[in-house]
Amino acid sequence: MLVFKFGGASVKDAAGIINLSNIVKKYAAEPLLIVVSAMGKTTNALEKLTQAYIDQSDNLTVLFDELKRYHYQIIEELFEPGHPVFNEVANTFVEIDWAIEDEPQDDEDFIYDQLVSIGELVSTRIVAAYLNKVNIKTQWLDVRGYVHTDNNYREGNVDWVKTRESIQHNIPTLLNKGIVVTQGFLGGTSENFTTTLGREGSDYTASIFAACLQADSVTTWKDVPGILNADPKFFSDTIKFDELSYTEAIEMTYYGASVIHPKTIKPLQNANIPLLVKSFNNPEAPGTIIKEAAETTFTKPVIILKQNQVLLSISPRDYSFISENHLSEIFRLFAAQQIKVNVMQTSALSFSVCFDFKAGRFTKLLEGLSSGFKVKYNEGISLITLRHDKQGVLKELVSGKTVLMEQVSRNTAQVVLR
Ligand code: ASP
Ligand code: MG
Repeated sequence: MLVFKFGGASVKDAAGIINLSNIVKKYAAEPLLIVVSAMGKTTNALEKLTQAYIDQSDNLTVLFDELKRYHYQIIEELFEPGHPVFNEVANTFVEIDWAIEDEPQDDEDFIYDQLVSIGELVSTRIVAAYLNKVNIKTQWLDVRGYVHTDNNYREGNVDWVKTRESIQHNIPTLLNKGIVVTQGFLGGTSENFTTTLGREGSDYTASIFAACLQADSVTTWKDVPGILNADPKFFSDTIKFDELSYTEAIEMTYYGASVIHPKTIKPLQNANIPLLVKSFNNPEAPGTIIKEAAETTFTKPVIILKQNQVLLSISPRDYSFISENHLSEIFRLFAAQQIKVNVMQTSALSFSVCFDFKAGRFTKLLEGLSSGFKVKYNEGISLITLRHDKQGVLKELVSGKTVLMEQVSRNTAQVVLR
């Protein structure tokens, strides 16, 4: 069986959904499970709506109306009036009406998941209805009964034992009856509340289903021809890799390459299932295949740019050397704020560390550090990671720029730049 994942960009308008159906048609003879994200920038819009609800802002109805208008415009293009999809979509949006009726009482992360999840619940209704309309027999599946998570809202941890059991028990029979369309990014708790798996988590959903069903492959359909050595938004003359090893793909996502969600690869590697990254604009082209024994010649290095970084330098207040006890206290504070370190360096008197800027967490981290440490920091800086820089591209990239920190190992070079 095959697993396909269609991201937000592939279903951003009516043409995108028609294109999806044309791709799916070619594979409809095989058992196929399709994971779909929210349409276009819907998740961003729902994040704004959630914030407006939490702040009880006047903007709330405007944002909600815009979101509904965007979806209704698409279904009006795809379906004749009176088609059942209009009711399905309306019934899904009603969940938002109910959730925002009263003033916010619950934990913000909980509220976030209950509201933001509507994006995928709506998009999958539309995609499933359209596939049926064009005679591709399709069943809509509520993923929340299959991907079981704990109640760590906004970053649900998958209970693999329960998830495997549910998926293996029910999905094979469903796949015999036609295509299954389900939501990426969402999970359900044991109390039947909705969780999300972290932004861009739909790839991970595809990988969970594939691993549990021992799929032949997973294909993620994107607006790029495959995995490129660098983001074409920031770098010119990019090249596409035909093949990459699981390990290389894991390293790339670890350093911040945003083509695939970081949690996606490991379950596929464990089950030895290849991951194809292909263009939905050019479905016949081979794209990139991520698999065990990949042959890759790095004619250009992998370049990963992370913006909006903080470089924080931490020294003990009593001017003592940085000791293991200091480091363990510092890491405890980072862990408490769930701040992931991107690069770090120690000297005799200070510890420097670069990480993604997240306002609330950063403030709390500084509060925690303030009793024992002095801090200095730079905000709004960039981190560039290069892998396999055999051509010495790093030199070119940093020329004329202020390098605040640099770290070079055999395959990886990292520089923090202003
Ligand atoms: N819709 C979610 C997001 O935009 C999940 C995904 O697209 O993978 O983050
Ligand atoms: Mg997305």
